[in-house]
Amino acid sequence: MSSSLCLIGHPLGHSLSPFLHRRLMARSGVNGDYTLREIDPAAFSEDVPCLLNTVNGCNVTIPYKQAIVPFLDRLEGKAALYQTVNTVAVTADGTVGYNTDVDGFLQALRHADIPLQGRVRLLGTGGAATVFACEAALAGCEVTIHKPRNLQAAQTLCARVRTVAPHAVCRIATEDDGDAVDLLLNATPVGMHPHTDACPADERLLARCAAVFDAIYNPRTTRLLECAAASGAKTAGGMAMLAWQAAAAQTIWHGVTFKESDMDALIEDAYRELEVQFA
Ligand code: NAP
Repeated sequence: MSSSLCLIGHPLGHSLSPFLHRRLMARSGVNGDYTLREIDPAAFSEDVPCLLNTVNGCNVTIPYKQAIVPFLDRLEGKAALYQTVNTVAVTADGTVGYNTDVDGFLQALRHADIPLQGRVRLLGTGGAATVFACEAALAGCEVTIHKPRNLQAAQTLCARVRTVAPHAVCRIATEDDGDAVDLLLNATPVGMHPHTDACPADERLLARCAAVFDAIYNPRTTRLLECAAASGAKTAGGMAMLAWQAAAAQTIWHGVTFKESDMDALIEDAYRELEVQFA
């Protein structure tokens, strides 16, 4: 039987998800298809239950990662902890929400040989930032939200981190404090295509970062990564995170697993596909 999968979000525009999932299914011999299903926010509560009746699973992206929660029968693991879902499995026992962004993030750091430890500095306070901050806190890091443009969102995120990891240090730096940074995490869209000249951190901060991870995957080398590498930091972009979160979703849906070497090849192919889509 063919597996019917999709990505829901609004707007969807260009997405690499169909490419990644079709490649992962072909690699593991799974018979299935993966499509884009843009859902208008005004129609979300009506459309989602219908959609979940017609698919085997779906991924969820902006702005529905929290909005989907009340429509699911249960949440597993980090999805339950963060109340944020990016993967849904439709099973005989009901609809189950997961968060494979977490798997993607941790695997992307491992892939780049960047340890999640020490003083972590975070740019952004949204969905990706929540995952990054909570995972860093759970790993025992000291988390600093750097110059948030929305102070209230930063305070809410710090409170969230302390709920998830009660003994963790999570603070907000409203001005640059000059502290050394073991790992800088960009969870803002600053520098993303087509605004590729923009950079979310200045040279002063980058000069004292040992490693920088940028969640952005388009372009492959953002201005942030270019400047960080020039000042001697270890760097990694977001494509590995995207590819590994897709692989983790395939594991949930079909029980298949993937070799590191196959994933490395897929990440390179995905960067080439990006060039085709944005040519
Ligand atoms: P989000 O929930 O909308 O959060 C975006 C955050 O960036 C918010 O804190 C927002 O602040 C801040 N921000 C936006 N524009 C800014 C600007 N010009 N200057 C300073 N801060 C700004 O988005 P998200 O889902 O966390 O995604 C963030 C980035 O991560 C995006 O580029 C997305 O493509 C990427 N991402 C990548 C992966 C992957 O697999 N590689 C997965 C998830 C996300 P305000 O609250 O003030 O608006």
